[in-house]
Amino acid sequence: SSQLAIDYVNAVYKTVESRNPGEPEFLQAVKRIFTSLLPAIAKHPKYIKNGILERISEPERLITFRVPWVDDSGKVQVNRGFRVQFNSSIGPYKGGTRFHPTVNTSIIKFLGFEQIFKNALTGQPIGGGKGGADFNPKGKSTNEIMRFTQSYMTELSNYIGPNIDIPAGDIGVGAREIGFMFGQYKRMQGGYEAGVLTGKGDRFGGSLARTEATGYGLVYFVNEMLQDHGFSFNGSRVIVSGAGNVAIYAMEKAMQFGAKVVACSDSTGYIYDEKGIDLDTIKRLKLDEESVISAYAAEHPGALFNENCGDIWTIPCDIALPCATQNEIDENAAKLLINNGVKAIAEGANMPSNQNAMDLFNESHILFGPSKAANAGGVAVSALEMAQNSMRLAWSFEKVDAKLHEIMHNIYRESINAAEAYGHPGNLVYGANIAGFIKVGDAMIREGV
Ligand code: GLU
Repeated sequence: SSQLAIDYVNAVYKTVESRNPGEPEFLQAVKRIFTSLLPAIAKHPKYIKNGILERISEPERLITFRVPWVDDSGKVQVNRGFRVQFNSSIGPYKGGTRFHPTVNTSIIKFLGFEQIFKNALTGQPIGGGKGGADFNPKGKSTNEIMRFTQSYMTELSNYIGPNIDIPAGDIGVGAREIGFMFGQYKRMQGGYEAGVLTGKGDRFGGSLARTEATGYGLVYFVNEMLQDHGFSFNGSRVIVSGAGNVAIYAMEKAMQFGAKVVACSDSTGYIYDEKGIDLDTIKRLKLDEESVISAYAAEHPGALFNENCGDIWTIPCDIALPCATQNEIDENAAKLLINNGVKAIAEGANMPSNQNAMDLFNESHILFGPSKAANAGGVAVSALEMAQNSMRLAWSFEKVDAKLHEIMHNIYRESINAAEAYGHPGNLVYGANIAGFIKVGDAMIREGV
């Protein structure tokens, strides 16, 4: 039956490959997940019999649309908008929105595919989706951002709703953009449907602790991983790539747990400060600077500034938290981290380690927390935001944070248990993929073809 499973997985992967040419990130995510599902497919022939891999790897719906807008000079601009509604077997589509010039079908589908399993892992009733546009927010005025975002929502509003598809933020989309999107949806809808978007401001239906959730959740998850192996954050040296929402709150919680965060980065470079990163400065600069790290370097001449942000992984550390973007850790970076004695790596960004890097971490027995488990705290609190919106009430910060803590604990335990049960003890990549897959696959079987 094991050979049967291998043949099945290979055959479905071949079909996915030939059906999606020119989509390297999507194929990378599919290959990784399919490979780690082998033990579950071998154990349960029902997934083969019900064609689950064939069905789960094809989005239920993929929407692309024109996003026309007028820039400040009066020129008409056109971008391409996307929304993938990947899987709705356990709940309405849920997932973020990315505004970045690299956004294309492959990126949106890789993110949406990951989101299916991540969302299932949270234990909340949310399906998988993702959206975005190939719009570059860098250098744009607030009015341009507003006009673009309104145009994006004008078209997207035809396809979403509190029981259909609930977008949120991702790279390039934060509280400001969600506010503009919500205002536009409300105008188009002619009704106040708070539950159509998450990551809203706390004055109009947003959840307290949603801003902090991804970063805090990441550190709660790593804390479980460390405790399980007799390590802790206290007194450790931590590197966090990125300087966005995920990175900032990962640094904050790691510091609260007694860690020293010595480096962080953005696209302009990285800073390395042996005294520890001054988080208040980062937070202040974030409010009105586009290049946070170079601005930080200008204010802190004592810190080392390097324009090559990828070189951040040359700095020795105990714990590495990649919180920037996909494939930021390649084979070379992985080797440097390992040779410099890293003990644990956990992904705040989505799929920041490429396959070679993950193989090296695995061979070297380094604790590794894959993104769909480690960064699931963001979308988990989005689901709590939806719950509050449905009940028309608002929970305290402490209540949401306590629920987040419990969810991250459960994700870790479920992933570790699945890894053990399916023959890869300690391997959270297998564990997270299998635990998420079983929930979705079983629901798909019961709901019929
Ligand atoms: N973009 C985030 C993620 O990758 C959050 C999605 C959400 O809150 O819906 O999980």
